[in-house]
Amino acid sequence: MKYQSTRSSFSTDSLKAVLMGPAPDGGLFIDPQMLKPGYIGFDWKACLQLDTIEMSKMILSALLPDFKDMDSLVEKAYRGRFETDDLTPLVKVDNAWVLELFRGPTSAFKDVALSILPRLMTAAVRQSGEKNNILILTATSGDTGKAALEGFHDVDGIRIIVFYPHNGVSLVQKSQMTTQEGSNVQVCAVRGNFDDCQTGVKKAFAGIRDYCASNGWQLSSANSINIGRLAPQTVYYFAAYRDLVKNGAVKLGEPVDFCVPTGNFGDILAGYWAKLMGLPVGKLICASNSNRILTDFFTTGIYDTRREFYKTSSPSMDILVSSNLERLLWLAVDGDSEKVAQWMKQLNSDGIYKLDDAVMAKLRKDFAADCCTEAEGAASIRAVWEKNGYLMDPHTAVAWTCARRALEKDASRPMVVLSTASPYKFPHSVLAALGKDAGGDEFALMDKLHEISGVPVPANLAGLKDKQPRFSTVIDVDSIINYVKESL
Ligand SMILES: *Cc1c(COP(=O)(O)O)cnc(C)c1O
Repeated sequence: MKYQSTRSSFSTDSLKAVLMGPAPDGGLFIDPQMLKPGYIGFDWKACLQLDTIEMSKMILSALLPDFKDMDSLVEKAYRGRFETDDLTPLVKVDNAWVLELFRGPTSAFKDVALSILPRLMTAAVRQSGEKNNILILTATSGDTGKAALEGFHDVDGIRIIVFYPHNGVSLVQKSQMTTQEGSNVQVCAVRGNFDDCQTGVKKAFAGIRDYCASNGWQLSSANSINIGRLAPQTVYYFAAYRDLVKNGAVKLGEPVDFCVPTGNFGDILAGYWAKLMGLPVGKLICASNSNRILTDFFTTGIYDTRREFYKTSSPSMDILVSSNLERLLWLAVDGDSEKVAQWMKQLNSDGIYKLDDAVMAKLRKDFAADCCTEAEGAASIRAVWEKNGYLMDPHTAVAWTCARRALEKDASRPMVVLSTASPYKFPHSVLAALGKDAGGDEFALMDKLHEISGVPVPANLAGLKDKQPRFSTVIDVDSIINYVKESL
């Protein structure tokens, strides 16, 4: 099977697509068969009979068919590595369902994909006879960095360097990264915000490609522009639907809505892929924080980045350029890559592009969008704790708030809210939302949150305060390329 770029007719197989990250023309890889009804003839009903690990094998073999040993890759990535082998439990909270995606090794939903991506990459190297070692450069707003380090540390033939915004992540997130063990990892702070950091890393990609090639390194990315990140995320939509059928909340074949706390548009796009594969998904609700560029886009058809950037209590959603939206656009215009390339060019040069009404009408059949203020998110955390005894992190609270608003208008279908992080990654914001004193060291706050809530602290987070930081370098954005060269 061929994967094609969203910006040209460039195509390659799923092995190479995983190794490359973005396509050479700057576009993103997508499977053109997704444009056809009955996509790849996937037997979604049979899939719903399986447990989550078996489901992963079936779905990933369908989406990434060139990998020979998918069953064993999935086993090694997941078996015994999450809190349960169910991977992503579904919990009833009030009149909605919360899909807990944070039960993996670093307590963020990024673990679902980043537990398996390194294995996909090494398998792809082995199978395609690639001689180079792989260099992963990743910019993070906090969660991707740690989940990637955890997935890639001590993997043969791979080096990983993570860049995070200096003073732009929570203390818990920072300690998670700077205490990372492994002989092939490096972590570096960059002066500036996440967008500066991300732009710097993108530039480094272009600026260092030739240097890497002549020194035996193949550059790649662990960000969600990699199809090896997106494909594993389709699985939990199937798992959630299976659980709803099992407990009688929905009859097989009836639609279910999903509300997704969105940043780079990867998580929600995976839900759309599940729908294209046959899963009865109703509406996908794109939930944003105060950086409401996607809400405005779905309302007006105009994607306009020329606006203020807000730092919020849900930092992993503080983003103005949602990369994966490009894949949705490509699908919406039936694979017209010239059109997509043109929009992306406009975005680059003017910071804005506009879609026509027909395209927007098509998108609105599958997607809805809403946003949530800081005050609304905090109020949701408190209300759900006080009424239902369920503790949510600030990202989940954004989606919860939007989901509740949607349910007030129409509660005819079950609603699943995707929960993307453990509340213990953001103890300061969660305590403040609960109306408690949230001053002082974040590790003390973790303990305090535990005393108040009785909810267990995930072991990986509880153990952090006793670990020694290994990395303390802070650099300017302009120094990223030199930093990478020196580390090699
Ligand atoms: C990355 C992240 C998101 C956003 O997911 P996207 O795939 O980028 O839309 C939401 N919540 C948390 C906690 C995250 O780490």
